[in-house]
Amino acid sequence: MKTCITYHPKFQQYDLGVNHPFRGDRFVRVKAFFDEKELSKSPNIFFITPNPVDRTFLTKVHTEEYVDLVFRLAELGKHYDIDTPVSKGIVDGLMYIIGGVVEAGAAIFNGKANRAVALGGGFHHAGRDYGGGFCLFNDIAVLIEWLREHYRLRRFLVLDYDVHFGNGTSDIYYSDPSVLFISLHQDPHTIFPGRGFIYEIGSGEGEGFNVNVPLPMRTGEQAYLYALKEVFPPLTEEFRPDIIVANGGSDSHFADHLGSLGLTARGFFEVSRIIGEVSNRVCGGKAMLLVTSGYNISVLPYCWYALTAGISEYELDGNRIEDYFPAPRDPQQNLREVEAVVREVKRILKQYWNCFR
Ligand SMILES: [Zn+2]
Repeated sequence: MKTCITYHPKFQQYDLGVNHPFRGDRFVRVKAFFDEKELSKSPNIFFITPNPVDRTFLTKVHTEEYVDLVFRLAELGKHYDIDTPVSKGIVDGLMYIIGGVVEAGAAIFNGKANRAVALGGGFHHAGRDYGGGFCLFNDIAVLIEWLREHYRLRRFLVLDYDVHFGNGTSDIYYSDPSVLFISLHQDPHTIFPGRGFIYEIGSGEGEGFNVNVPLPMRTGEQAYLYALKEVFPPLTEEFRPDIIVANGGSDSHFADHLGSLGLTARGFFEVSRIIGEVSNRVCGGKAMLLVTSGYNISVLPYCWYALTAGISEYELDGNRIEDYFPAPRDPQQNLREVEAVVREVKRILKQYWNCFR
């Protein structure tokens, strides 16, 4: 079992400004935390320092007009929208992050690694011709298209465990049955981007391949993990992807400033461990984590470490996983409501999936 982790000092240029929730210092802090935990001393973990992605590759996913727009805004130092500033430094940092995502995917299919953690990746709010929600280019889709072209892969499973719904990724693959998109997120009535309802199941050929599991605010860890285990492993086993690509970060943590779900660092370890375990059963252990979100900088390194320790099997039982804050009182909060959500997901999707019958 080998895991590659991508890191480059340039990642910190993806800094959306003073008073913005997305600061670039997260990368430096996480790298320091990883060093403290001696990750790089493990014989089964190696770091790669990526090159920037080639701009032409972005147009495998995005329209030429949209890519031009982002680079023009970068020259001018203007915002894409109120939440999403653009500058030369930001776009330059982003090119290194996406380069890392692609190189991490290559490491898996070149046989250098089984697992990969691409720090900074997972800009799931960017669609083909739009950005927003701190995102400019959708590196998840760039990775998928790059792998499809270079390794002739046929089926991709995206597990989006970010607290926000991945509207960009969902839109890009909404009618594409080669990508099964599963998203667990906070109830869209209560959080950006206000989409990700159960009935959004995909269209045309892709009908049934967009699976949304919206969770009520303050859902506890056990209720969250119940939903994950009911939906993700059976669908993955039936779909049989060539690789599992998971994206998120730490914004589903109970102390996050933007999200209101109830995971602890230990919960992130569990999510990641389950992803690894399912990948062992289904696709030869090929699994990647793209990790970028998290808006409580104190808990972020603990959670990103927990995710990395789980997927890389650096820690097997998670007993050494620590959190910055003590755990909230009720890990079962909203369990009844979550059971009802899961029942509804299965009811709506059972005509497409045997495992839900
Ligand atoms: Zn998020």
